[in-house]
Amino acid sequence: MCPIDDGVIKYDRSHFEKTKALPSEEFQELEKWRSTLFQLRLIGEYLPEKIGYGNLSEKKDYSHLYETPLSQFIISGTQTGGLANLDGNSYVRVLDFNFDTLLIKAQGPLEASSEALTHAAIYDSSPSIQAVFHIHSNSIWKGMIEENYPATPKEVPYGTKEMALTVKDIIAGQSNGLLVMKGHEDGVIAFGESLSDAGKKILEVYDKFGG
Ligand SMILES: [Zn+2]
Repeated sequence: MCPIDDGVIKYDRSHFEKTKALPSEEFQELEKWRSTLFQLRLIGEYLPEKIGYGNLSEKKDYSHLYETPLSQFIISGTQTGGLANLDGNSYVRVLDFNFDTLLIKAQGPLEASSEALTHAAIYDSSPSIQAVFHIHSNSIWKGMIEENYPATPKEVPYGTKEMALTVKDIIAGQSNGLLVMKGHEDGVIAFGESLSDAGKKILEVYDKFGG
């Protein structure tokens, strides 16, 4: 499995609605964490292919924009990994999703991260999860696999219904945790009841295994 698999959007993007830049109040707290993780190179870009990796999201209430019983969230846009700082042109709202049809109904100046469906699955696993951070690091990934952290199996690729269901099984109602994606090289996910809960989980494995 090659890490540059990352860039490819596998979900159904037909319901994407392009808008102007999102207001900074919507993502400024998330952006603080993104900037920290970018500096640690846990979010970035594979060279020379220039394929971005790493994406962060935060649960939101967008019911004034679209009604759904499912979780709604803001997430970094596709192929933004290489940018040190993101502004309103690089975040996007996810208003609805469907695992059977792989639909992501998103609204923003650019399309959602290729891993948006995995974020959706995590929010769908427990109503108390408020933040999902997906980072890449070879040493953390290897270290977590060696130490048997909760893991999605090798044969399950990101961005698929199978990944969504697997993630839900692993999380099983927990509200804070870490998981390593064996079939997505370097891929690690933290989730938590707040941005700082998710961020601290990432820093914990960064300190333990190195960037
Ligand atoms: Zn990834």
